[in-house]
Amino acid sequence: MLAQEMTPGASVSDADLESVILGNLDAYTHPTSTAPMGDDGVVYSNGRVHGIAGLMVVDASIMPGIPSAPTNLTTMMIAEHIAVRVFAAA
Ligand SMILES: Cc1cc2nc3c(=O)[nH]c(=O)nc-3n(C[C@H](O)[C@H](O)[C@H](O)COP(=O)(O)OP(=O)(O)OC[C@H]3O[C@@H](n4cnc5c(N)ncnc54)[C@H](O)[C@@H]3O)c2cc1C
Repeated sequence: MLAQEMTPGASVSDADLESVILGNLDAYTHPTSTAPMGDDGVVYSNGRVHGIAGLMVVDASIMPGIPSAPTNLTTMMIAEHIAVRVFAAA
């Protein structure tokens, strides 16, 4: 149980609140798609990088666009799909 307000403290002014809010704002970013797959993108659908033999990228960067689903799950799904293709081809 809390006996008093902890942040910004017992004496609260609008300036105190504004300062705390601005100091704690976070965009909570989930960056994706900086090396997107596709004909005009960076990697093929199997993660191989266009024009560079032996180099693959398998992470959130290869998503062709920002997904509306959770990006960690989407990243794992991409990794599992590509791993199946890599092992099937080996
Ligand atoms: C606060 C927060 C909460 C989130 N919550 C969720 C959630 O609830 N559900 C969800 O689905 N997604 C969530 N996400 C998003 C999810 O974590 C990411 O989308 C996902 O982890 C991206 O996977 P990735 O493999 O592309 O990158 P990362 O998971 O960031 O993996 C990159 C790895 O590369 C390593 N690395 C970096 N530079 C180097 C280097 N030079 N040499 C060697 N290794 C290096 C890093 O240490 C790291 O292990 C959250 C993200 C954040 C920040």
